[in-house]
Amino acid sequence: MIELDNLTVRFGDVEAVKAVSFRVSAGCAFGLVGESGSGKSTVLRAIAGLNAAWSGEVRIGGVPQTSKRSKDFYRQVQMVFQDPYGSLHPRQTIDRSLSEPLLVHGLVGIEGRITRALAEVALPNAVRFRYPHQLSGGQRQRVAIARALIAEPEVLLLDEPTSALDVSVQAEVLNLLSELRETRNLTYIMVGHNLAAVAHLCGTIGVMRNGALLETVGADDLCAGHVLHEYTRRLRELSVEIDAAPAG
Ligand code: ADP
Ligand code: MG
Repeated sequence: MIELDNLTVRFGDVEAVKAVSFRVSAGCAFGLVGESGSGKSTVLRAIAGLNAAWSGEVRIGGVPQTSKRSKDFYRQVQMVFQDPYGSLHPRQTIDRSLSEPLLVHGLVGIEGRITRALAEVALPNAVRFRYPHQLSGGQRQRVAIARALIAEPEVLLLDEPTSALDVSVQAEVLNLLSELRETRNLTYIMVGHNLAAVAHLCGTIGVMRNGALLETVGADDLCAGHVLHEYTRRLRELSVEIDAAPAG
C-alpha cells in the first residue's frame, strides 16, 4: 500500500530525511521511532503531500506520487497530528469540522455519516454542537480521528497521536486506533516516542536517526531486545525506564 524508495527531504542545505526506503502492506501498521528531530514527521508530511521539496519515489497503492496530489489521494490518505487543533478549527463546531471533508469529496448522507463517525470513536452525538475547547484532550483527539476517517480513507498517517494526552487516556486512544484498523482494514504509519505504545500497535518498527532509517525491526524482536544497533537498544532501554518511573 505504501512504498518509499530513497525518500530525501531537504530544508535549504539541511537533509532532514536521507534516502529512506520502506514498504507497508495493506492492512498493516508500521511504526517510526527515534529521537526528536530525527525526521519522523518530515517523512509523514512528504507522504501526505504536505511538503513539496522531496525527491525519491513515493507510491501509494502502487500509484507513483508527484508533488501535486490528486483529489482522490487526499481522500485515500489522511493524517492525524499530535495536537488535534492541527485539524480542528477552534471557531468551528465539531459538526462543521466533520461535514467539511464530506462536502469536499461530494459525499451524500452527511447526517448519518457524522452520527456513525462519532459512534465509531465512542463519542456521544451531542458532541456535534460543541467547539473543540469544550472537549477534553482525549475527546478532541477522538474527533480528529473521526474527521480523518469520515471520508473513508485507506491510509492513516499518525504523528504522535497520543503524546499530548494524559497518560490515563493514551491507552484508550491507542486501543481505539487498533480496533479501527482491524474493522476498516486500514494501513497505518504511526510515529511515536513511546516504544511500548508503538510496538503495541505496529508489527514492524523503523528506527530513525539523523534523518536516516537505521534499522527495521519486528515488534516482538524489539520487545525481546533482539535489535541490530546499540542506538535502538538505548532507545528501548530509555522507554522502559520512563514507563517504570513512578508517576508525577
Ligand atoms: P521529528 O518528527 O523526528 O522530531 P522532524 O521531521 O520534525 O523530526 O524534523 C527533522 C529535521 O528537519 C529537524 O532538524 C527540523 O529542525 C527540520 N525541519 C522540520 N521541518 C522544517 C521546516 N519546515 N523548515 C526547516 N527545517 C525543518
Ligand atoms: Mg515530529
